[in-house]
Amino acid sequence: MAQSKSKNPKDSKDQEANKALSSVVRSFVACPRCSFFLVGYRLIHDDFAEAGSNHQDNWLHLTWNSATRSLVQKNFGWWIGVDATHYEGICQDCRRVFIYGGLTDGKNLESFEVQIKPG
Ligand SMILES: [Zn+2]
Repeated sequence: MAQSKSKNPKDSKDQEANKALSSVVRSFVACPRCSFFLVGYRLIHDDFAEAGSNHQDNWLHLTWNSATRSLVQKNFGWWIGVDATHYEGICQDCRRVFIYGGLTDGKNLESFEVQIKPG
């Protein structure tokens, strides 16, 4: 008989990561608007699974670029200009917070943080 794979520490680590990720996805799917954002984000970027399974707190650190900018605009109606240094948006439906941090003196990378569980 085959041994159970759950004894392999790498597999159980993967399982933990999968559990963390599906709990993140569930909290987005609870809101139609945020669910639509998530689907769009995953079409543009392939790092959501990593962000969703490695988060340490209630925040996801996502990738910001011009495609993310137009997704946010279409989905939430926020226009975050290229010269913006800081922007906080709140989902009209579930009150999830999205925080954009812009370039400071051209030194820092742009950041985009999204609350996992609103409220
Ligand atoms: Zn929402």
